[in-house]
Amino acid sequence: MSQLFLERLAVTCGRAGCGARIFFARTAAGKAMPLDLEQDVAGNVAVHVDGAGRAQARIVSADLPCATHEHLHLPHFATCGKPASTKGQVVVPIYKARAKRQR
Ligand SMILES: [Zn+2]
Repeated sequence: MSQLFLERLAVTCGRAGCGARIFFARTAAGKAMPLDLEQDVAGNVAVHVDGAGRAQARIVSADLPCATHEHLHLPHFATCGKPASTKGQVVVPIYKARAKRQR
């Protein structure tokens, strides 16, 4: 499988403040899993493209490490919106206005 093939599957994450390039792969359970487009050796999801041209994902384990026909990727959940959503956001508590009211 080539990175070029994944480029064809690439979409942009629509979450505000993210905009990362991701792609969706199918898990064994048939669910679509968003993954970072770039390969990452620290990833725990092995991806390969099946005969029908669909990206298939599985979690790697000690028993079933990444095979030569697979590439490692990080689940996009792990990187989505970082650091924008965690550091850039100012949370204003709604109770603040009422708490200021004095008797
Ligand atoms: Zn995202």
